[in-house]
Amino acid sequence: MLLIRDAELDGVRADVRIDGGRVCAIGSGLAARPGEAVVEARGGALLPGLHDHHLHLLAWAASLASVPCGPPAVRDAQALGAALRARPGFVRGVGYHESVAGALDRTSLDRLAPGRAVRIQHRSGSLWMLSSEACRTLGLDAGADAPGVERDGSGRTTGRLFRLDAWLRERLGTEALPDLAPVGEQLTRYGVTGVTDATPDLGPAALDALAAAAEGGALPQRLLLLGAPAGGHRGLAAGPRKLVLDERALPALPELVERLRAVHAAGRAVALHCVTRAELAFALAALEEAGPLPGDRIEHASVAPPELVGWIARLGLGVVTQPGFVRTRGDDYLRDVEPRDRPWLYRCAGFAAAGVALGAGSDAPFGAGDPWLAIQAAVDRRTAAGATLGAGEALSPEAALALFTTSPEAPGGAPRRIAPGARADLCLLDRPWAKARERLASEAVVATLGAGRVLWSRTEPGAG
Ligand SMILES: [Zn+2]
Repeated sequence: MLLIRDAELDGVRADVRIDGGRVCAIGSGLAARPGEAVVEARGGALLPGLHDHHLHLLAWAASLASVPCGPPAVRDAQALGAALRARPGFVRGVGYHESVAGALDRTSLDRLAPGRAVRIQHRSGSLWMLSSEACRTLGLDAGADAPGVERDGSGRTTGRLFRLDAWLRERLGTEALPDLAPVGEQLTRYGVTGVTDATPDLGPAALDALAAAAEGGALPQRLLLLGAPAGGHRGLAAGPRKLVLDERALPALPELVERLRAVHAAGRAVALHCVTRAELAFALAALEEAGPLPGDRIEHASVAPPELVGWIARLGLGVVTQPGFVRTRGDDYLRDVEPRDRPWLYRCAGFAAAGVALGAGSDAPFGAGDPWLAIQAAVDRRTAAGATLGAGEALSPEAALALFTTSPEAPGGAPRRIAPGARADLCLLDRPWAKARERLASEAVVATLGAGRVLWSRTEPGAG
């Protein structure tokens, strides 16, 4: 049993008692029982624990042990070469962008880090660039192959691997799987009590690593996996089936329609990854043809002009967006994205106005893992350099918070409430909501509870 004393719930000061992992009483002047742990809230806002509706746990954990290869850490070829050469062993780089040293392949990587085994992930997450030594290690020069391995006219791989995360992970084996505990701990500091892993097609090694981390407590968050088999895995729940659409390699429309029908026939919804206007239009055409299932949703919907938003609404689909990219990538978008697409980037208010259920995720490690950064960006729509992107898409602080407080199964549905009987997944702030909403930031989080257990606290809970 645990008592949270003098918290602010929906604007009212109250005490909250937790028992058996659930909220069991809310009232004023609840007396601590003998031996009961007490968390003194001192008027701080008590919120539902945040749920990140779209991130990539293993990739995030791996990135913590990887060389940053893009801005702001690395801005030119010289700095990139130095960073790669400074690491021993098979170097894993992340966050690459062409502004650093153009399009990379094995030849340019061999020049930057001669003789070294190097693999670098593009910051989009869709491309790995390998040095010659890395190509050899993976057997790519000796017959190993997969759709997505780019080859030149002579059949030799260029070292560029498109959408082959799962293949790489399984090929590198379990010793390459990272420790998930630092990610679990980071999430608790943000007040995150649940996450949806959006990695498609998780293989056996990846599924086992996630299950072991959940069972052992390294990942204390509720987990929902979009890349797990339909029945889930070792007690981990499967969400809608993640399918990735890539404009450069779209299937034939009837082929996608068949896939959608097959997933639906098994009673499972789909989560379709669409980042371009063309990918989104293609996905909607296929879903229209297949017939949507409740729970079907679009991941990202990064470019969503009004006619496509209307179509999403008509089909009754949900959207999981990433407002954090407005902050972390907005300046690049303002430079690189076609002007006609700019007003429709990572929309928020536009979806809400059309009645589309809208949830959000960080997309960590491709986006910053701190959901509060995304929440504040949904409010101010400001880029890192201070420019505004899609001013008309701004949400109120309350609506922005709700992007992360709806149930894992229904992003954008009704926000979870703190009420007797509810699972005690909670996030306590050090200030009242009226103050917190002025500048939403994770530094306000003072304690995080998962199923009634204190997962993290800035201070030790006292005894009653
Ligand atoms: Zn993602």
